[in-house]
Amino acid sequence: MNALVPGRECGNCNICCIVPAIDKPDIQKISGAVCRNCTARGCAIYEARPDVCRTYYCGWRRLELIDADWRPDLSGVFVELEVGNIPPQYNANFGLILVLVGNPLRTIREPRFIDFVTRCVANNIMVSLGFPGPHGKQSAQLPLNNKAMLEATRRSRAEVRLILEKTLKRLSGHNFIPYDMVHGGQDFST
Ligand code: SF4
Ligand code: SF4
Repeated sequence: MNALVPGRECGNCNICCIVPAIDKPDIQKISGAVCRNCTARGCAIYEARPDVCRTYYCGWRRLELIDADWRPDLSGVFVELEVGNIPPQYNANFGLILVLVGNPLRTIREPRFIDFVTRCVANNIMVSLGFPGPHGKQSAQLPLNNKAMLEATRRSRAEVRLILEKTLKRLSGHNFIPYDMVHGGQDFST
């Protein structure tokens, strides 16, 4: 999955330089911390940025099925892609984690969010709701492909919304555990 969706640019977004932990030999950053190289005009070391930063693109940059107006900093949804080891019962060879990086409750109540989840579940695409942990902690996620959600997608937006709200409540009460870094020596966390 190397192609990018034409016409989509990161612009002022820097969510992937903040939300996830980065744990590579040439750069480390704890989850939730702004990378030290982030500036108002973008990455301060753009030409010399590490390989992981050169090759990483979120789901919005990679998948046409994600709506054009879902740039993560504007929509509050950071779509992380899962590739490899996708169980065979799903129809796509990737999975989506919809990480809520804005106002979570407002986001999941938006009709466009409910409709996107409905499309994924109805089309049997692996999709989870994600919640970033506090600084330095692992994020949490819960799958949305289940019988109750599938039945809700056949009935109404209101029922899908109810399940999303229950799922979010479980995620926000999650016991977040620390992310143990494997690498060290190049910590760019602020
Ligand atoms: S989260 Fe996506 S849109 Fe935002 S900077 Fe990263 S790759 Fe670009
Ligand atoms: S070094 Fe990487 S994570 Fe840091 S600001 Fe630049 S692109 Fe983002």
